[in-house]
Amino acid sequence: MHKIPITVAFGDGIGPEIMQATLHILEAAGANLELHRVEIGEKMYLKGFPTGMDPTTWDLIRNTQAFLKAPITTPQGGGFKSLNVTIRTTLGLYANVRPCVSYFPFVSTKHPAMDVVIVRENEEDLYAGIEYQQTPDVCNSIKIISRQGSEKIIRYAFEYAKKHNRKKVTCFSKDNIMKFSDGLFHKVFDEIAKQYPDILNEHWIVDIGAAKLADTPEVFDVIVMPNLYGDILSDVAAQIAGSVGLAGSANIGERGAMFEAIHGSAPRRAGQNCANPSGLLLAAVQMLVHIGLERIAETIHNAWMATLEQGIHTYDIFKEGISKHKVSTTEFGAAVIKNLGKKPTQLQAVIYQQTKAPLRHSYVPTNPSRLLIGIDVFLYHRGTLEQFLPRISSFPSSKLRLKMISNRGVSVWPHGQPETSLIEQWRCRFLSDRKESVSHNDLIQILHACDQTKLDVIKSEYLYHFDGKPGYSSSEE
Ligand code: NAD
Repeated sequence: MHKIPITVAFGDGIGPEIMQATLHILEAAGANLELHRVEIGEKMYLKGFPTGMDPTTWDLIRNTQAFLKAPITTPQGGGFKSLNVTIRTTLGLYANVRPCVSYFPFVSTKHPAMDVVIVRENEEDLYAGIEYQQTPDVCNSIKIISRQGSEKIIRYAFEYAKKHNRKKVTCFSKDNIMKFSDGLFHKVFDEIAKQYPDILNEHWIVDIGAAKLADTPEVFDVIVMPNLYGDILSDVAAQIAGSVGLAGSANIGERGAMFEAIHGSAPRRAGQNCANPSGLLLAAVQMLVHIGLERIAETIHNAWMATLEQGIHTYDIFKEGISKHKVSTTEFGAAVIKNLGKKPTQLQAVIYQQTKAPLRHSYVPTNPSRLLIGIDVFLYHRGTLEQFLPRISSFPSSKLRLKMISNRGVSVWPHGQPETSLIEQWRCRFLSDRKESVSHNDLIQILHACDQTKLDVIKSEYLYHFDGKPGYSSSEE
């Protein structure tokens, strides 16, 4: 039988110990893998690779069927890019899938019936890392949500639910505040949900949704979210299920996949042979399903649950009265190997379906009419509005008129309130008088006039109407 090539990184901190234990179990279960080891993480950062990886590693990852990665340590101090974000975005691994299951009564939890899968968008949102310091005291991060990115992740969530016989997909967003970015995510969710009439769907505003997830996680099944909410809430979900040390995750793309534990490198526990290898092992189980070794995945997962049932626990989940043996990383691995072939007797044994070819997305761009009708000019000004208002409101006549000035999104002119606290970044909106189309040259005239009157422009944003509707937020609401 031919061996399946996979890339393996042992990582930092507890990484090498949990990877060793995981690989022993995979080998003992008969997973026929050809391992290609790569060096990533702290050592590589310190050697001068700003992403924590030698660029030649890309080819190896590309030429194997999956990447099994132990956690790494990002050195303290500036200038280091997140290796995880780099790998996910560079390889287009758009779906982060994190099953968060409780193993009650063997692992202590307040939520015995919890079985939630969080599907987190992996390529967009504030994680695009497009950030600016605009003034001495103001910074700005750009949140990107695209129809293309939203369609991919939301369709993935519904397909996942269909394939795993799940009944409901829930969407979390904050579209009551971010009407454009999160509004688009919610809108796409509603559109795609209609194509899956056999699967229930619902939407929660993320704050109350998060509270409900922490309180009664058993009412959720699959939850799909933009990147940042998914990052935070998948850790919360894993922790309330029992321990962050138990959860694995898959990062899936159309042309690659990476599997890892959700926790970090826990440097304080490194070298003590005490860390729980379960998160990485369950990530490896997801990997085996992905590469078509679902029977071996099943055998390992069931043996792992049988081990939990026997009360053989690492320190992080050990509890007097529930646990029987407090074991080291290697002892835990050996116990799982001993249990290969056994099934849990109280926990639900797993059965994995054969994987289909990766989901191929065909994206059809929308084509609304698009009209340029103005510009928002952001100014750096320390002082009062009255100090610069005469200059900006007396620009030579053009098609564009100053219609509004806001500070942190709150209108301060022509209508404002004296209590509003102000910062040194001001947004001045110029709109075409009769909502008619303007040219780029008209916008340049405004910027030129700012320059002539010594106004300190730090950013500008063009304003469009799409199918006659404003494509920008208003401070007047
Ligand atoms: P962490 O998840 O590494 O550890 C937090 C605490 O959780 C540990 O001190 C330990 O008590 C416990 N813990 C975590 N995993 C465990 C396990 N398998 N078994 C037993 N106990 C476990 O978080 P941190 O301390 O905030 O981060 C440490 C480093 O990890 C940082 O450099 C961070 O950047 C990095 N990190 C890496 C990844 C990754 O590579 N995927 C993810 C998160 C954090």
